[in-house]
Amino acid sequence: MYPEVVIKIDKYKSNIKSLVERCSGANVKVWIVTKSFCAHPHIVSNLIDCGIDGLADSRIQNLKKMKDLNIKKILLRIPMLNEVDDVVEYADYSLNSEIETIYALGERARKKGKKHNIIIMLDMGDLREGVWPDDVDDFINKVLKIEGVEIKGFGTNLTCYGGVIPDENNLGRLVKIAKEMAEKYKLDLEYISGGNSSSYYLLEDGKLPVGINNLRLGEIAILGRETAFGKRIDMLHDDAFILRAQIVEIKNKPSVPIGNIGMDAFGNKPYYEDRGIIKRAIIAIGRQDINPDGLIPLDPNIDILGASSDHTILDVTKSDRNYKVGDVIEFKMDYGSLLKAMTSEYVDKVVV
Ligand SMILES: *Cc1c(COP(=O)(O)O)cnc(C)c1O
Repeated sequence: MYPEVVIKIDKYKSNIKSLVERCSGANVKVWIVTKSFCAHPHIVSNLIDCGIDGLADSRIQNLKKMKDLNIKKILLRIPMLNEVDDVVEYADYSLNSEIETIYALGERARKKGKKHNIIIMLDMGDLREGVWPDDVDDFINKVLKIEGVEIKGFGTNLTCYGGVIPDENNLGRLVKIAKEMAEKYKLDLEYISGGNSSSYYLLEDGKLPVGINNLRLGEIAILGRETAFGKRIDMLHDDAFILRAQIVEIKNKPSVPIGNIGMDAFGNKPYYEDRGIIKRAIIAIGRQDINPDGLIPLDPNIDILGASSDHTILDVTKSDRNYKVGDVIEFKMDYGSLLKAMTSEYVDKVVV
């Protein structure tokens, strides 16, 4: 049923294998991040033989879906206090930055007779999650007094809120702090986690600081693009996830609406370029499922004019194809659209 996202699993797996191989050459273990496709079970079950070290997600519900897979599972988002029970149950590791939360995790772990592994997040300047570097010594001191949890590593996250690009300086500092703390407190450090898809370019340039031994990769494996500069990675496919939507109306109409222009469905006052009479196709998908600016039509002669909640309007005037009602238009997606489409229950997911 349309609309649908077609997932070409061989292409996605090939991307992951290429990344794993590239990373292992630099002694970096890869956690594949599954949140953008909601840890779709049929996709996830295909990934465990790709040489990855673990599967990581920000939502505990998604890790729960993976509970029967024999691979490390990592919770990426700092746990909520109300989910610590599930975190201890379904995550082998969680990323943390709050002492109260670690205390609650330790308490749950003790009740279950388990040890929960934690990675301490450090804020290296992006101003999303993480302990401030000046406070880390004090923080570790407190964590070490909590039974039931074990510090297994340090990590940072960049290029998410502040847009800060990972470099030798900020990741070098992460390694330095992690090593100092490990030495001082005799920690058995398994991971120094150097970030997400935006850190990959350092590895390609041979500039990833020695000591970083883990990356958490989502977008780069799906879209074949690193995220510090948006550069395409030649060895990766950029069409593993394709959106397909069906034309429900196609007519020649003017390009500028007729009447006094008020607000559109989202409260914005729109502007229309006058292209004269054009061939307009409406496809049955809208802002509830995608972001129209984040769609890239595979037919290069299609322009996206706009979208409301359930309709997306295309200018197909210049296309070589003679589109008609029922035809299917295919798109690559940016990360934002992919996230929406995979999350929308109105969009079918087809793994081929
Ligand atoms: C989402 C997320 C990632 C993955 O980011 P990509 O840019 O998709 O590679 C890594 N780490 C954390 C903490 C995340 O929340």
